[in-house]
Amino acid sequence: MTREPIHSPVTDTTLARILVADDDPRLLKSLASLLEQQGYCVTSALGGKDACSKLSTQIFDLAMLDLKMPELDGFEVMAHAAAVQPKCGVIVVSGESSFSAVSRALRSGAQDYIKKPFDPDEMLTTLEAALGKQSLVRAHADVQQRLEKSEALHRYIVNSSPDIVFMLDGRGRFCFINSKIESLLGYDSEELDGKHFRHILDEHDVARGSYALRDPSITAENPRTIEVRLKTRGSQKANRYFEITAFPVDNESWPLAADFNARTPGRKARFYGTARDVTERKEAEAFINFQAYHDLLTRLPNRALFTDRLNLAITQARRNKQKLAVMFLDLDRFKVINDTLGHAMGDLLLQAVTQRLEGCIRKGDTLSRFGGDEFTLLLPAINNNDDARRIAKKLIDAIKAPFQLGEHEVFVGVSIGIAMYPEAGTSLDQLIQNADIAMYHVKAQGKDSYRFYSESMSIDTANRLSLERDLRQALENNELRVYYQPQVCAKNGRIVGLEALVRWQHPERGLLYPRDFLPLAEETKLIVGLSEQVLAQACRQVNEWILDGNKDLRLAVNLSPVQVEHPRFVENLVRQLKNEGFPAGNLEIEITENVIMNDLEQISQKLRELADLGVRIAIDDFGTGYSSLNYLHHLPIHTLKVDQSFVRAIRNGEDDACIVDAIVAMAHGLKLDIIAEGVETDAQLAYLRGLGCHQVQGFFYGPAQPAEAIARMLDWQQLKAMV
Ligand code: C2E
Ligand code: CA
Ligand code: CA
Repeated sequence: MTREPIHSPVTDTTLARILVADDDPRLLKSLASLLEQQGYCVTSALGGKDACSKLSTQIFDLAMLDLKMPELDGFEVMAHAAAVQPKCGVIVVSGESSFSAVSRALRSGAQDYIKKPFDPDEMLTTLEAALGKQSLVRAHADVQQRLEKSEALHRYIVNSSPDIVFMLDGRGRFCFINSKIESLLGYDSEELDGKHFRHILDEHDVARGSYALRDPSITAENPRTIEVRLKTRGSQKANRYFEITAFPVDNESWPLAADFNARTPGRKARFYGTARDVTERKEAEAFINFQAYHDLLTRLPNRALFTDRLNLAITQARRNKQKLAVMFLDLDRFKVINDTLGHAMGDLLLQAVTQRLEGCIRKGDTLSRFGGDEFTLLLPAINNNDDARRIAKKLIDAIKAPFQLGEHEVFVGVSIGIAMYPEAGTSLDQLIQNADIAMYHVKAQGKDSYRFYSESMSIDTANRLSLERDLRQALENNELRVYYQPQVCAKNGRIVGLEALVRWQHPERGLLYPRDFLPLAEETKLIVGLSEQVLAQACRQVNEWILDGNKDLRLAVNLSPVQVEHPRFVENLVRQLKNEGFPAGNLEIEITENVIMNDLEQISQKLRELADLGVRIAIDDFGTGYSSLNYLHHLPIHTLKVDQSFVRAIRNGEDDACIVDAIVAMAHGLKLDIIAEGVETDAQLAYLRGLGCHQVQGFFYGPAQPAEAIARMLDWQQLKAMV
């Protein structure tokens, strides 16, 4: 007869394999044939020894054993069966009916006991019952085993998931969480059981996380995915980003939910979710984002972010009818340092410069690196030009102090162009471009300073070219005129000096002012020839007046930085004075502070040579450039010209008025002459007189005028002196 595979349970008990063991051959035969008649598969063993050897070699479902057998008795055979075939059931068939023998047999593992001599029907019923029970036990064990396997498989699947898998109850408390949470966040999954999921949410994301679960629109088919940070525990690592997908469980998506919930008293699983660690992706995204909008060297916003913010600021300024300022900053002398000390030092310098610039601005301002050594600065919502002016000065001052790069001490400066919204433009491009143009004018006029954009600064290339051509012609055709503005002693109203101010009698465009053509003259270096003509004309003219009885009359001339920086500046100037026969003592040259600071050593040498010849030196526009006054002690300076903006402030009663007080006090302390520029009103004159500032220049006494007009004034003055 062919047998079932060894471990498959025997469900049809008639197919059971039965071992029958007895030392009485007669009895053995009758029992075996009775069972065979019933269709069982019977193996007979004559005595205990034979039974043991058969148990060792064949598989049985049941053994029917006599207890009393010579050599090996039934108990010994039972012990052997338990060792080699634990699944084989045992029924004892014995003449032994003492209570102790029966109970010993049952305790040793026998399922039942049949007393000899047996009634065949009773015996078969007992046998059937034993086999039936055994097959039930087997079936149960088998189901149990399959369950365990399946559970192990699912546990493996859930715990090996790269994601955190969890279930929450209706109030958001964990009722299941896989072990992934340990390796990802450092929590023990069991310890979280029963805790609210808020427990592991980063504090910034608690509200968002809680809100997502309350959204009634999420279902298993339409789950909600949110990105939140989860807190790590135990390690120093920063919180990590997770993409959480969750949905409510219902009977449809999980029919056994009710059953599961019945087994976990108190908490019912209401939500299923997974959490995927997306930290690396987020970090990569953040870096790419940062990189797209920042300069990596200085970590400042880049051009893209700057224009973004500027656009926003323009919209806001338009809506609120406010001003805003855009500054274009370009470092002076950076290229030289970069070229001589190398790029690594150049980089260090840019970082150090950034730090100082950042120290000057407020929270809402945007400083950006525009490229190379160019920066832009957005000041949203400022009140007036003076606010912008103040910041520009602060920036210039901040950069002025030396930078320590390793063992090198270097000096840089910064030229700043300022474009104000809405005067200098109402669009992003206009504002940036015009700030840039204004910056170029600063560069052209000696660097290390700031200027506000004005319309006259932007002449397009075509106009520039024609203007440049015209200007060259002007020099050849003597179209330049020198106008003279009186510098007056406020005590007696006498003209003590004349400032020569150039005008251009353009053949088609009429009389042009310096602002229309000087920037271009400086950029094209035509300023050198222009200055020579102005100086020659002025010297000739003023010399006439000096010889004509105004022997102390001073001629003040403006010098461009381009001129002063020229290596043969002193030589050229002295030669010209000699050519014209002009007394050096009657000449005053006006230069700005920035010209001096650009190259302190060279300039001071040149000024000293001139001063030794008797030429006087005035600082023009004093107070607008460097506020550092140290150099004044060391240079042969004679006069400070207080800038017009401070004089104008007197009229307006602004804070800047007190700057005039300070400048005048300081000039007195240093025993310097002082001339106030731009005096237009009685009030200003009275205020300046009160301070002890007695030389003034301005529309109050008259604008710059042609020589003939000045001649009449001088004549009139001489006449008055005679009477
Ligand atoms: P600056 O040296 O500060 O000259 C003073 C400017 O203020 C002159 O303008 C003058 O006309 C103007 N001004 C004088 N009094 C008053 C007043 O009471 N109120 C007002 N609002 N303005 C007044 P200008 O002639 O247009 O010259 C502008 C600038 O051009 C000068 O500023 C000077 O830096 C430069 N400049 C003029 N001529 C020459 C020149 O021959 N050579 C050089 N290198 N620069 C020159
Ligand atoms: Ca001047
Ligand atoms: Ca001036």
